[in-house]
Amino acid sequence: SLSDRLQGVFANLRGKGRLTESDINEAMREIRMALLEADVNFKVVKDFTANATAKCMESDILDSLTPAQNVIKVVMDELTRILGGTDATLELSPNRIPNVIMLVGLQGSGKTTAAAKLAYLLKQQNHKPQLVACDVYRPAAADQLETLGGEIGVAVFRGDGADPVAIAKAGVREAVDNLRDVVIIDTAGRLHVDEAMMTEAENIRSAVEPDEILMVVDAMTGQDVVNVAKAFAERVDFDGVIMSKMDGDARGGGALSVREATGKPIKFVSSGEKPDSLEAFHPDRMARRILGMGDVLSLIESAVKVQKEEEEAEVAERLARADLNLNDFIDMNRQIRKMGGISRLIGALPGGDKALAQGQVDERALDSMEVIINSMTKAEREKPDLINGQRRARIAAGAGVTVTDVNQLMKRYGEARKMVKKMMPAITEQPARGKKG
Ligand code: GDP
Ligand code: MG
Repeated sequence: SLSDRLQGVFANLRGKGRLTESDINEAMREIRMALLEADVNFKVVKDFTANATAKCMESDILDSLTPAQNVIKVVMDELTRILGGTDATLELSPNRIPNVIMLVGLQGSGKTTAAAKLAYLLKQQNHKPQLVACDVYRPAAADQLETLGGEIGVAVFRGDGADPVAIAKAGVREAVDNLRDVVIIDTAGRLHVDEAMMTEAENIRSAVEPDEILMVVDAMTGQDVVNVAKAFAERVDFDGVIMSKMDGDARGGGALSVREATGKPIKFVSSGEKPDSLEAFHPDRMARRILGMGDVLSLIESAVKVQKEEEEAEVAERLARADLNLNDFIDMNRQIRKMGGISRLIGALPGGDKALAQGQVDERALDSMEVIINSMTKAEREKPDLINGQRRARIAAGAGVTVTDVNQLMKRYGEARKMVKKMMPAITEQPARGKKG
């Protein structure tokens, strides 16, 4: 994947220690290839490498103590910029009720499901949304919206007749009559950009004057998205993009290309078929995800900040050892608390969002872990592999818990140890900035 490729490039750089201009050029060549293979638009790639190379050549990067780390930062910043820089949200106007949101896009891009997901999200935010089914060409389309609306408890207006413009207008009136404050209009798409689709979208737009027009784009379409988005931008115009199917094995090209190609921000991403799988889009988080690091880098940065100088060198040593004993484990847990909770750490790791959603995080468990670790001997804490069944029974008795509790702790510790091993390639250089540097 793109992440794997990029991590490979960075691992290479780290192996080198000091970097020369030709190291940078070589790395950029590999990054360029990785991006092109991920189906990122050619112009975007060209732009990206030109900017990133120029920044990397600045002498303070090449001469710094941690050049590879700085190159990663340049790449991350540049990816963030391409993805839109700052967060863009829905711009609903407080002075107009109901607000109208209209979804456009090709057939199969995910409009109908996105309409329901957006309604669900707005409902969570205490709005009273209403869906309007304006796809009159496929008989099943309105049924689909009605089913989805039923699942999330949101009213669906389907009107009658075959005129989508009339349905859209009647849908807005229906919302007014029922005191609903946001109307989401689902429209028909076609397999390719065509005149009829554009004219219809324009007509609906003139009839209901949406506050927000969002184009739904299937992440799997890769850089073809550029042409589709341009066509919509010219005819219907839109305010932002919903990128759907981010859960599929999309290569990331679409997300990276769309902003640059149209100047429109990605506002939401959808990564599943369930109603709760729509999320606000954050360019910086996405950049980190593309780099395959979650928020590891920033967490390491904040970890280092909250520590005293001398502790830094110690942590550097432990991380360099790439192994974690139970003393480290308990320190790590305390550190996590200082930084604002285990949920934040887990959420920041690649794939961590899922762990959070599945409720695998229990802050209270941290306290009972400390109690158990406190009843271990010094040798056991330093060499956890010593801890056999007999010792577990003794530790449990000492801590006033069951052996199952001890087993659970050891299991968690084992997972953390594995995680640290896995994270090492991404963070190994950071601590070098500490005392020894
Ligand atoms: P429309 O023709 O633009 O209205 O597209 P639909 O909303 O009907 O979606 C087309 C198909 O893609 C449906 O089977 C959806 O369940 C599926 N789909 C939409 N969004 C997502 C997503 O984010 N992830 C996944 N896995 N499937 C999605
Ligand atoms: Mg549809």
